[in-house]
This record gives sequence, structure tokens and C-alpha cells, in this order.
Amino acid sequence: MPEVTTSSSVPPAHDADSDRLRALLERAATGRDSQAWSDLWTELYHNGSLDVAHPLVLPTLADLAETGKADEAASALHLAGALLVQADQRYETRNLRHQYTPEVARLLGAANRWRQVTAARNDYCYLVEAVLNLEGDIHWAEGLVRGVVSEEYELECPDPDGCASLWVIFGERGFFSTAEDHALSDDVETLPLHPADPRALEGLGRRLYDLALADGHEEVARALTYAFGEATCPECRQRFSVIGQVVTASS
Ligand SMILES: [Zn+2]
Repeated sequence: MPEVTTSSSVPPAHDADSDRLRALLERAATGRDSQAWSDLWTELYHNGSLDVAHPLVLPTLADLAETGKADEAASALHLAGALLVQADQRYETRNLRHQYTPEVARLLGAANRWRQVTAARNDYCYLVEAVLNLEGDIHWAEGLVRGVVSEEYELECPDPDGCASLWVIFGERGFFSTAEDHALSDDVETLPLHPADPRALEGLGRRLYDLALADGHEEVARALTYAFGEATCPECRQRFSVIGQVVTASS
């Protein structure tokens, strides 16, 4: 278990925020305190009552990612990635990344190491999300990965008039788009999906597909062909890019 260390750059010991942050990080590092992680998400991410740029935050998360057990490391990577993307979006600068360049590099290295040894499907997906968030080239990794994990996307038809909300379902429940909540009824209309041909994938889709196969996650690779494929709107019959609407929904 990594110690939550202090250095000369840390504010005075009696700063209330520093004390609360230090206590939460120490509890989170024990691996037995999910409430501490929940509180860190609330205070750092959801309501911003603690400062993400505080010198304890990213350095401690990097320590946990490098030396913690799998669960703590995964939690640290998920939170750190989300905080960085949120800061990019909120301030429209990459100042937090620049301020903590060595820590971000350590986090990314750890995320890539854990990714290669993580067998559980969903844990793997969240590590891929952390990798993308730590790299910082896209801001919609959360939306992409949430759909792969849940095997569904709830999206808007790209029609400029906002024609319909629809579900894109892929996995155990079948492979289709539908305008209604399929779980509520068996006789709603469903339309077949058009997964991407793996040989024709390009860009991020190509990279993530190849990564999933190389990491032994064939099922994730297959799900990605649906995320990077096309669906048909049940209302207007327009065929559209699934990932294009995921990006739109995340903007
Ligand atoms: Zn439509």
C-alpha cells in the first residue's frame, strides 16, 4: 500500500482541504473503503469542492496506480482520467496536464500495464477508457466505453429536426436498433445493425479493435465493430454512424 507522502510543495498541514483530501486518499489506498472513493468522486469530480490541481491528488493517484493492488489501481486510473478530461473541457486548456506531466505519464504507463493483464471484460473496458482519457486526444471515451460495457447506446437520430431517440442494442439481447425501450415490450419494431467490417476499420476504431484482440478480449473487439458501425433510425430510416452520435451526445 503506497503511503500518502508529503513534500515541500504541499500546503500547510492545517489547511482543512488538505487534511480532508489526505484522509480520503489514505482511506482509498487501503482498498477496503469504497465510500472514500465515492467521496473523492463527489468532491473532486461532481461538485468540485476539492481542488483537482492540489499537489496531493494526481501524484497520489499515480502512486496508487503504480503500486496498489488491481482494484485500487483501477479506481485511481479511472478517477485520474476523468478528472483530466473534465479539466480539459471545463477550462478549455490543458493546464492540469501540463502542470502534472510526469504524473500523467506514470498514470498512462500504469493503465497500459494493467490493461494487458486484466481478464474481466468490464474491468478491461474501464482501463481502455482510462488510457484514452489519460492520453487526452478525445473527450468522449466515457460515452464510448459506457455503451460497450452495457451493450447498448441510447442516442438521438442525427436528423436535424431531432427525429427520434433510439436504442442501439448489441450483445445477449440481440443486435438491433429500436425506437422504444425494448425491455418493455416484445413486439416493438427492431432494425438490424450494420457492424463495421473489421478489415475496413480506421483511426481509433482500428486501434481499439486491434488492441482488444491483442489483449485477448475478442468479445470487446466484436462490440467495437457495432460501436464503430452503423444503425438505422426506426422513424426516418436514415442510416447513421453510431460513434458519430456518441460523440454528439458527449459534446
Ligand atoms: Zn430519424
